[in-house]
Amino acid sequence: MTISHTLGFPRIGRDRELKRALERYWRAECSEDELRETGKALRASHWRIQAQAGIELLPVGDFAWYDQVLTHTLMVGAVPPRFRHADDGLGLDTLFAMGRGLVRTECGCAGDGAQAQEMTKWFDTNYHYLVPELEAEQRFHLGWHQLFEEVEEAIALGHRVKPVLLGPLTYLWLSKCGGREFDKLALLDRLLPVYHEIFTRLAGLGVDWVQIDEPALVLDLPDEWRQAYRSAYHMLRQRDVKLLLTTYFGPLEDNLELAAGLPVDGLHLDLVRGDGQLDQLLSSAAFDGDKVLSLGVVDGRNVWRCDLDRALEQLARARRVLNDRLWVAPSCSLLHVPVDLERETGLDDELRQWLAFAIQKCAEVALLTRAARGEESDEVELALRESRAVQSARSVSRRIHRAEVKARVEGIRDAQAQRSAPFAQRIEAQRRKLALPKLPTTTIGSFPQTSEVRRTRSAYRQGRLDEADYLRAMRDEIGKVVAFQERVGLDVLVHGEPERNDMVEYFAEQLEGYLITRFGWVQSYGSRCVKPAIIYGDITRPAPMTVDWISYAQSLSKKPMKGMLTGPVTMLAWSFPREDVCRETQAQQLALALRDEVCDLEAAGIDIIQIDEAAFREILPLRRRDWQHYLDWAVKAFRIASSGVKDSTQIHTHMCYSEFNQIIEAIAAMDADVITIETSRSQMELLRAFEAFEYPNQIGPGVYDIHSPRVPSVAEMVELLEKAAVVLPVERLWVNPDCGLKTRGWPETEAALVNMVDAARSVRRIL
Ligand code: GLN
Ligand code: ZN
Repeated sequence: MTISHTLGFPRIGRDRELKRALERYWRAECSEDELRETGKALRASHWRIQAQAGIELLPVGDFAWYDQVLTHTLMVGAVPPRFRHADDGLGLDTLFAMGRGLVRTECGCAGDGAQAQEMTKWFDTNYHYLVPELEAEQRFHLGWHQLFEEVEEAIALGHRVKPVLLGPLTYLWLSKCGGREFDKLALLDRLLPVYHEIFTRLAGLGVDWVQIDEPALVLDLPDEWRQAYRSAYHMLRQRDVKLLLTTYFGPLEDNLELAAGLPVDGLHLDLVRGDGQLDQLLSSAAFDGDKVLSLGVVDGRNVWRCDLDRALEQLARARRVLNDRLWVAPSCSLLHVPVDLERETGLDDELRQWLAFAIQKCAEVALLTRAARGEESDEVELALRESRAVQSARSVSRRIHRAEVKARVEGIRDAQAQRSAPFAQRIEAQRRKLALPKLPTTTIGSFPQTSEVRRTRSAYRQGRLDEADYLRAMRDEIGKVVAFQERVGLDVLVHGEPERNDMVEYFAEQLEGYLITRFGWVQSYGSRCVKPAIIYGDITRPAPMTVDWISYAQSLSKKPMKGMLTGPVTMLAWSFPREDVCRETQAQQLALALRDEVCDLEAAGIDIIQIDEAAFREILPLRRRDWQHYLDWAVKAFRIASSGVKDSTQIHTHMCYSEFNQIIEAIAAMDADVITIETSRSQMELLRAFEAFEYPNQIGPGVYDIHSPRVPSVAEMVELLEKAAVVLPVERLWVNPDCGLKTRGWPETEAALVNMVDAARSVRRIL
């Protein structure tokens, strides 16, 4: 029978209860039992919410104390040796040590533990998972029983459940070699018996269906991996449970026949990102017998209300072929969207009608299931009518469509995406104007966000502090930061960003076409959440956004003050985008708004402007085939934002965590006068890409790892600078930290920057 299910539900809680409980536990303010109780209550509540919304088959195993990949690593017994202690077994503290590298201490401060597992982005989402570390000699065993306990918990509550497991190939694909390099596929034969054991245990608990996540199937896979899929699932054939193999975040494309032919009992497709693959699958001879097809028709990655007619049309197409072998679901886990739209009482009705968060999406899935079954009740009819009304109202709403913005985007000429002179000429004009020393020193933008600064901002937001007092407090802070930089002897100063809560939200709040939620939190990693802004309409900038702050900072110093903006690609990457226009267009609209800001800064006498593109590399498409198109529009958006200025105005950009090898051409095409990047932890290795490409413009490779409170010594930074000077000409080098300092405290920041300036001065003397 056609049923409704979800692939996973947000675990963090409507009010971020899990975040708070975790952080209390880490500060030793609550016991493990209390933490466990919170987790149990959240799971129960999430199952109840989904069931009440009409979801018939509920996910178990989507809950994680820190990260679902980390839980899986524990489950298959792949805990790296540094976290294993002879005398005590594995517990929650082992799990947290793997995630955070810190141990809980009675005093509440974090003691030193083993280095945490590396964290990286989960496919092209903003969620981070902990990268499994496997060794060539790796053994696996069933080492963690959380899934079975949670299944029992859900069954005891009377739910019909579907445990969720990360599939063996995706797990291996996402892992890295802990020691020397080896072929990860060689571990498959050792890993599969653990899956068998898990299936047997689940069957013993009365489980019928198991969801096995294999999102790696939407990637470009080497042939050995495709072959490994066949052999692995062949080996998993003998089992006592049915398998629903789930794929998401994109279409299967060249892996479609492979996925369709695997010996499993059901397959899930993401139709939001790959509508075309439905017909391909329905006509595939490999998809035969009595396999179930689960269709992800409700968007699990974005916040828009589902167009029910469109989804129903897709379901109807499938039903004609499959009859009851059709299931209905969101496209992927709902982990990536906020929990409950009902919490957003501050939104106006028109905007609210366009949105759906996790709970509302469950209701959409349930309704679509009923409609797909052929139910013709008043309720179904009403929902369909309402959906139609919303879609058509939205498509013409004046809140969204602004003719002047569309005209401006269409009128973008190539010349607008190009500085008026080449770099070699610009840099001379900049040299004359700025008169900076060799190896100029600067920072990336933010200074420590003390609790006082945060308190002041939130008091102002909540109306407890009036505008004049807020302005005074922020100006005081800027004054302090400027005076400090003068004292230390930095060459290019910044205002310190005390007025910014978040580098995207700050701008989104001031742009038209953007919507900010109050409770729209989404888990980023561990207990950390982000609240992405929502782009709902054409973007305009009603007024300058940063000019007053930067001009004030400049008035306090004769040294150049660097204006600080978030770039168009990063604004887009860290927001929920529209789906009625393509991302390229949204990036261009953002770029035009930022271009106006850049020009206003220049007119206000700011000679250096940094446009941060921290997320530039992050949203590179999953398939290599799509890279060039993305890089083209992303580079163009940056150039539109940055090219409205005179030759003598210096444009900086900043990128963190970036691996530049494959995109160095695009980085060069951005044509920023200066790029600052994170390099200190890689010992300048990242610079190799710039060397090999003969990158022509200026570079500030970070010499100070801001992710750690440790103060780097002068000698260390001298050594890094010398390394950099071997790779690149010293005339093109800048000296700066890896990233912004907002998460650091003042004492270590002061000490580190004093050392950094010293290091630059001593290298200037020798080179
Ligand atoms: N200018 C920002 C800051 O210093 C850059 C942050 C980032 O790259 N993530 O905080
Ligand atoms: Zn950064």
